[in-house]
Amino acid sequence: MTLTVQPHREAAGLKTGQLYIDGQWGPGGEGATWTHRHPATGEEVGDFAIATKADVDAAVAAARKAFDSGTWSNSRAGTRIKLLHRYAEKLREHAEELRCLQALDNSVPISFSGSIYATSVEAAADVFDHHAGWVDKLGGQTLPPYQGGDHLAMTFREPIGVVAAILPWNAPFLLYAQKVAPALAAGCTVVLKPSEYCTFTVLRMVELLVEAGLPEGTLNVVTGPGDPVGEVLITHPDVDKVSFTGSRAVGKRIVEASAGTLKRVSLELGGKSPALVFADAANVGLAAATTIGAVTMGLSGQACVANTRALVQREVYDEFLAAAQGMAAAITYGDPFDPGVLSAPLINERQLDRVLGYIEKGKQEARLVSGGERLGGDLAGGNFVAPTIFADVENSATIAQEEIFGPVLAVVPFDEEDEAVRLANDTEYGLGASVFSADAQRAFRVSRKLRAGTIGVNGFQIEPHLPFGGFKESGLGREGGDSSIEAYTELKSVYMPLTDEMM
Ligand code: NAD
Repeated sequence: MTLTVQPHREAAGLKTGQLYIDGQWGPGGEGATWTHRHPATGEEVGDFAIATKADVDAAVAAARKAFDSGTWSNSRAGTRIKLLHRYAEKLREHAEELRCLQALDNSVPISFSGSIYATSVEAAADVFDHHAGWVDKLGGQTLPPYQGGDHLAMTFREPIGVVAAILPWNAPFLLYAQKVAPALAAGCTVVLKPSEYCTFTVLRMVELLVEAGLPEGTLNVVTGPGDPVGEVLITHPDVDKVSFTGSRAVGKRIVEASAGTLKRVSLELGGKSPALVFADAANVGLAAATTIGAVTMGLSGQACVANTRALVQREVYDEFLAAAQGMAAAITYGDPFDPGVLSAPLINERQLDRVLGYIEKGKQEARLVSGGERLGGDLAGGNFVAPTIFADVENSATIAQEEIFGPVLAVVPFDEEDEAVRLANDTEYGLGASVFSADAQRAFRVSRKLRAGTIGVNGFQIEPHLPFGGFKESGLGREGGDSSIEAYTELKSVYMPLTDEMM
């Protein structure tokens, strides 16, 4: 049976071809559009506007005007807090609709988006609730006079200004929330650019924010590809900060472009995160299922923090491999609206070719024990790749070093704890890591030595109040909790004598 998402497309009521600038939805200057093709079927899903330079200028000008006027940042704290909570509720009410839109955008199955917290609408709503609590707590300090005398020395936390928020396509709910919620809580205004591979979901999330009562100009949306739309944003002189989640290559380009006006930059980039599985793990089978699950379920390994390198102690190596192969064989593919489907295709043909290229490379570098090919039959019209496991991988191999962003797990054996830590850290990335061990002292000892931003001990979770981000080339800065407030504010010092004496 040929796969089709057409009935869902008709039911979804897509918002097509629209930018949101200064409180108005409109088609943009030149009427140019991008046609989104569904990654599971190749069908046309819908068109959206490609913003011109003039559109981006208008969006930045609207955000600048709104910021300078203080309509948002100087409004009553209670009004802003209530709006952010109201929006969180709206997201929850529209969760099913948003999950369906996501399935039309990036083909992440509704079975996954409804069950895994970090990629759920619930998590996005929680991020807004969490940040609503910061609105009236952006405090500074009052310090005693250092040189004696009678004066005040104070600090204030102030919103950073106009934020360009640039999103990837893979986890739109959480990644949108992790930028928009803290930016708004801090009093910033925003120009948002969704990924060209996940636009419709984000447009609907913005529409709900407008319905919740956000003042015009506070958040603006420009759609279209990275070049030219993203490029105009990251080089724009009136943008104070770029907050980016995406690939390392574009992250480096943003750092380069920021130099012109010394923009503030936050980068959430890629990873090659290891799972360290020790022989004393309470349940090696569960460790294997968790690891291969993160690389195959839901996003087909197109997840920044997936443990795509498994470092496994030799005593349990065969047990781990057998369990991982069993789990890989159970992953189902197809219509993302089918509740029995567990995973997704690759997002586009470019990514499909890239992943198949890495698999060919892996066949020369290591021992293929599962998958290793594109899926055919009913799935031939989509970008589906079988869950792929390579065993006996050298940590220096290409497939153990480079971010593949597909359903490919590299399994590397080790003997000693120190060796495992050395291998884990032997990467240019440092986003996440997991440690599986029933020995709590070992688990903490190893966690402290790992050069990565988030460590999971016998499990992994992203939480709204927990900083998330990368060491090394996995990023700059953190999102979540007080770290995101720091990321969207400037610290100002004020000195004030309390007498007429010259100081
Ligand atoms: P990408 O870098 O190709 O695109 C991300 C965004 O940047 C898109 O909106 C794109 O249009 C835009 N863009 C592209 N070129 C640009 C340019 N020159 N100037 C400005 N904007 C530009 O990444 P992707 O394929 O959407 O996402 C996959 C990558 O994102 C992976 O590397 C993954 O690890 C990373 N990621 C990281 C995290 C994290 O939190 N660390 C989360 C999700 C994804």
